[in-house]
Amino acid sequence: MGVMETTTLIGLIFMAVLGPAVGNYACSVVYRLPRGQTPFERHPYCGHCGADLQPKDLFPILSWLSTRGRCRYCKGSIPVIYTVIESVCLLVFVLYFLRFGMGELFLLHTGFAVFAIILTAIHWQQGWIAASIWGYAASFAILARTLAEDTIYGWVQSGVVMLVLALLLARLEAALRRQPFMPFATGWIWWLVLIALAVPLSLPLYGWLLLMVLPVTLVKTRLAIPCFAALAICLPPLLG
Ligand SMILES: [Zn+2]
Repeated sequence: MGVMETTTLIGLIFMAVLGPAVGNYACSVVYRLPRGQTPFERHPYCGHCGADLQPKDLFPILSWLSTRGRCRYCKGSIPVIYTVIESVCLLVFVLYFLRFGMGELFLLHTGFAVFAIILTAIHWQQGWIAASIWGYAASFAILARTLAEDTIYGWVQSGVVMLVLALLLARLEAALRRQPFMPFATGWIWWLVLIALAVPLSLPLYGWLLLMVLPVTLVKTRLAIPCFAALAICLPPLLG
């Protein structure tokens, strides 16, 4: 094995450990933010019985598998979404490392992806967009675009174009449904703008993204949320 492959292998093992560990913190944000708690104000605890968790309970993915998704102390079930979050973080860290190598772009893109994952989980569970998390995700996206493109015009342009198109579509939809126009309460507008900030979009891509929104606005299905998340997470390595 050459030096290059050895370095890559060590990097991959490191990412496979780091990804779920970061995912573990992401889970505590997902649990605590909607409850008005800060992620670091208390040691990790069981949401059912309040028992402080021991180190053996805190291994991402493995702890959940070893107790078959139940709390060791009260046997209350631990929602599968937390293990999904840790697994997606594992995938993101490994895939982004393979795509971007170890460097500034990797850090900025994974920062974006982790906050996009937190945003998704809260949107899925609570039905609303956490503005602060959206802000963190957007900041990482903007930094990554600026670093890669060496100019701010790229993300300013795609962000503004997408915002205008999405607002027009939302305005049209509200008019057709004879409902009040409430852009800030419309989750898919936030998702489209976030995606537009994160990746350079060509004209056909704007069209595809807006087309994708149609079934969402017609059926109002919650399944749209993981679809937006998948796009937000998969497009940067493909287009960035
Ligand atoms: Zn418990």
